[in-house]
Amino acid sequence: MIIAENIHKRYGNVEVLKGVNLHIKKGEIIAIVGPSGAGKTTLLQILGTLDKAEQTVPSRMELNKTSVSELTDQEISRFRNQNIGFIFQFHQLLPEFSAIENICIPAYIAKKGKAETEKKARELLTFLGLSHREHHKPNELSGGEQQRVAIARALINNPAIILADEPSGNLDSNAANNLHELFFKLRDTYGQTFVLVTHNEQLANMADRKLTMKDGVIVSKI
Ligand code: ADP
Repeated sequence: MIIAENIHKRYGNVEVLKGVNLHIKKGEIIAIVGPSGAGKTTLLQILGTLDKAEQTVPSRMELNKTSVSELTDQEISRFRNQNIGFIFQFHQLLPEFSAIENICIPAYIAKKGKAETEKKARELLTFLGLSHREHHKPNELSGGEQQRVAIARALINNPAIILADEPSGNLDSNAANNLHELFFKLRDTYGQTFVLVTHNEQLANMADRKLTMKDGVIVSKI
């Protein structure tokens, strides 16, 4: 599902990624751990097509059988919208919109119809235990609820790949545990592939594989 080979990235004179190699199968849940500054977020941004690997070095990146390095910027945006869901530490919900409106936005960007989209959004709200929060705005929801709305938003287009950067970093331990269990329930129900960057040891240990990054490379694989 994800093939990344020889991924380099530099910012100015600093080489942040020094040749990362990663093969992830469909339905796997991978945790990436490692000290701050190791390059985890940079790698996730590249895997998410939000940033590009260094072009001066030969590399390969395939997501869901598509060689993304060969796509134009416009094609990449469309590919991202249809294939990748993002979950961040700070959920980045739009404050003036209700839960269901926030969830529907990526589907409207994909030009899906309102009725079909709202039906899917309600299914997700029910799956995530949030049907009673459909019309609440983000500031009327708890941190855990906001994060679940963000997850529903990440799932609305049925993406094959979910990328999460410190998804439980902002939650108390109870909400974090619920969120972690939810990732596995989602994988079992919808079959997505997950890449999770996390400092949460418990989440990392639950994953199918834990990859440790240090100084821009993956140093250990379990
Ligand atoms: P991690 O997620 O493991 O903490 P990051 O990928 O965020 O690591 O950052 C790796 C290094 O790259 C850090 O030294 C950071 O300062 C640097 N870096 C990240 N993004 C940028 C950027 N846009 N411009 C310059 N340096 C950056």
